Amino acid sequence: MSHFLVAGGAGYIGSNFVKYLMDTSDHEVTLIDNLSTGRMEAVESLKEQYGSRIFFLKSDLGDPEKLHPYLHKRTVDGVFHFGAFSLVGESQYDPMKYYYNNVACTLSLLKIILEHEIRHFVFSSSAAVYGIPEKTPITEAAERKPINHYGKTKTMIEEVMEALSGREDFVYASLRYFNVAGTDEELVVGECHDPETHLIPIAVKTALGLRDHLALFGTDYPTPDGTAVRDYIHVTDLCRAHWAAFEKIRKANEPLTVNLGSARGYSVREVLETVQRVTGSRFRILEEGRRPGDPPVLIASSEKAKKELGWQAERSLEEMVTSAWAWEKKRSEDGLL
Ligand code: UDP
Repeated sequence: MSHFLVAGGAGYIGSNFVKYLMDTSDHEVTLIDNLSTGRMEAVESLKEQYGSRIFFLKSDLGDPEKLHPYLHKRTVDGVFHFGAFSLVGESQYDPMKYYYNNVACTLSLLKIILEHEIRHFVFSSSAAVYGIPEKTPITEAAERKPINHYGKTKTMIEEVMEALSGREDFVYASLRYFNVAGTDEELVVGECHDPETHLIPIAVKTALGLRDHLALFGTDYPTPDGTAVRDYIHVTDLCRAHWAAFEKIRKANEPLTVNLGSARGYSVREVLETVQRVTGSRFRILEEGRRPGDPPVLIASSEKAKKELGWQAERSLEEMVTSAWAWEKKRSEDGLL
């Protein structure tokens, strides 16, 4: 049995990862979260389900005053870092928030874990490091050319990890997420952003009648139906990849950078058709102009993940939408929306 730190463990993806690890192993975790966007409700649901295997430390990401005393008391076998702000638009008008949390606090976290001789670090990176790709599907060899501050923060941490990777006491995996959606079928945890900006949760909220309409951003892209194309993967597939990445770097003792996508693109219209079919709701869609900073097409090459991790996305868009729909319905029935 091992003990892991999960930074950002009260957020959407972090909490799903904790649930995945609880269900597939006998390990223990400490969730570190300052609850700025993470939810205590997620921590409580996980504690209720998994009891004494879940520890919670309310703390900023790299706070030495909280983390040093905590780490002096226990042995930790690896760190999974999900604790970043992730709204592209917000990163443009409040860059300090992004550079401080995503970069400065992450550097502090890295310094602390090195001081405590924790060698294995799995980092949530993003397709945003690529900016507007020259070729599709995007391979990991493509140049990093982020076009917003969010993508720049992820690039900066990748650069720091590369600089550190010569050290014997540090090995990392950088996982470049494409579009993550859905939640675990048991609905113990799920996606709750405020404000919500992502297509699938907004669409299911609209289907539930919580919004008057859905704004479709951009119908003049150079794509078959004129709307932007993205590569969506189910959060449970993503969590599985995190564990595979951890095992890989532990065994191979070498750093790893991989895309996590399905190599299959869906247009915004295709996603909305799926949401309308699954939910049975013909909600209103209003066509609007492009959202600034949105590339036309983002599709991952998933060859490297297949080769290095033996991993590929298995769950369909329909499964992502079905679980997102079930989650929103449950929250609505529980009076939480
Ligand atoms: N989108 C949209 N309406 C919305 C939210 C998103 O048309 O209310 C579009 C967005 O412009 C992009 C795609 O859906 O082309 C996926 O956006 P999302 O924010 O989910 O993920 P991103 O690709 O920006 O990470």
